[in-house]
Formats: sequence, C-alpha cells, structure tokens
Amino acid sequence: MLEVRNLSAGYGDIQILRDVSLSVGAGEIVTLIGSNGAGKSTLLNTVCGILRPLAGSVLLDGQDIGGRSPEQIVGLGLTQVPEGRRLFANMTIRENLLMGAYRRRQNAEVASDLARILALFPRLQERLQQRAGTLSGGEQQMCAIGRGLMARPRLLMLDELSLGLAPIVLDILTDAIREVHRGGTAILLVEQDVAVACDIAQTGYVLENGRVALSGPTAQLRVDPHVQKLYLGL
Ligand code: ATP
Repeated sequence: MLEVRNLSAGYGDIQILRDVSLSVGAGEIVTLIGSNGAGKSTLLNTVCGILRPLAGSVLLDGQDIGGRSPEQIVGLGLTQVPEGRRLFANMTIRENLLMGAYRRRQNAEVASDLARILALFPRLQERLQQRAGTLSGGEQQMCAIGRGLMARPRLLMLDELSLGLAPIVLDILTDAIREVHRGGTAILLVEQDVAVACDIAQTGYVLENGRVALSGPTAQLRVDPHVQKLYLGL
C-alpha cells in the first residue's frame, strides 16, 4: 500500500532523512522505532505532504504522491495522528472528532462512524461535551485517534502513541488499535518505546540519524543485540 523509496527530506538546507526505504502492506501493522531526533516525525510529515521530498519517492498503491498537499493525501486514505495530539483545546470532544470528517459530506455515514468511535472509546462518550483542553493525556490520545479515524483512513499513522501515558491507559489504546486493524485499516506506528512497538507491530524499522539502521520482523528486532543494548537497556 505505502512504499517509501530512497527518501531524503529535511528543513531548508538541513537534510534529516537520507535514503530511507520502508513499506506498509494492506492489513499490516508496521512500526518505526527511533530515539529523540532520529527523524521519525520528519518521515511522517513527508509522507503526509507537510514536507516535500528532496529526493526519492512516496508511493501509495504504486502512485507517486510526493508533493501532494496534506488535504489531498488525507483524501487518498492516509491520516496522521500527530505527536502531541494537537487537539483544538477550546472545542468539545464531539467537535474535535467531527473535525476529522470535515472533508466528508455523507452525514449518515459520519454519524455512524462517530457512534463506532464512541463505542471504541466509551470514555469519550461519557465526556462528549467536555472541552478537549481539560482532558487527561490518555483521553486526549483517544480523542486524537478518534479524530484520525473519522477521516476513514486506509492507513493510520500514529506518532508517539505511548508518550507520557500510564500502562493501564496504553492497554486501552493498544486494544483499540488492534480492533481498528482487525477492521481492515493498516497502521504505521512511530514509537520511542521499543517494547510497546514490538508488542503491537509485526514488522519494524529502526531509524538512526535519519537512516534505516535495521529492519525486519519485530520478533527478530526485539532480540537483536544492538536493539537490546540501545533501546531496551539490556
Ligand atoms: P522526537 O520523537 O523527539 O520528535 P523524531 O525522531 O520524531 O524525534 P524529528 O522530529 O523528525 O525526530 O526531528 C529530526 C531532526 O529534525 C531533529 O534534529 C530536529 O531538531 C530537526 N527538526 C525538526 N523539525 C524541524 C524544523 N521545523 N526545522 C528545522 N529542524 C527541524
């Protein structure tokens, strides 16, 4: 579905990503692992059309989408849940969720998707009229994921799912992601927490200094001596 080929990208004269290649197949959960500053968000932002590739390509179903606008890319079925959640703090949960569907016109479908998301996250249902800025970190992450799902993505890209969240909240989010995946949505999970990433995803890429240092099944990455030493503290 998504194929990133020999991608280079950055900010102005500063090149961050160098020759990065990765792919996410339909129905897959893939993780991109890396420490602070490795370039993970830069990669997502390039895939989402916020940054333009300097070289290489971003292919969706074989078609080059590099250089398309973020709005066009959402329309093609790629949605990002950004790091830090970026909710509209003064708007309610309901309004935030509906913002995810702003491109869609079929009200009945939007209403049924909203109901599905509220069933996925009952905590949001209970707080539907609460302003997003007053939510806990975990509730904000649920709302951000829900807003992403309201665009009906074929591929949902999650940037730093676990950051700052308690294990019990993370369990709720992990279950929800698995359910979304069972419903047919592919997932690209960007994570600093390698244990979390390897639990959720089948395939992983390790990004170091803007390059893919390692890749393969997460079952192998988890026991790789380099990964164990650098990312798992073993
Ligand atoms: P983190 O999880 O800490 O966000 P990351 O792997 O997602 O890490 P990026 O956010 O992609 O890393 O940042 C990679 C590098 O790009 C960093 O050195 C960062 O300082 C730089 N960078 C990020 N955004 C900008 C920007 N707008 N202008 C210039 N440099 C930037």
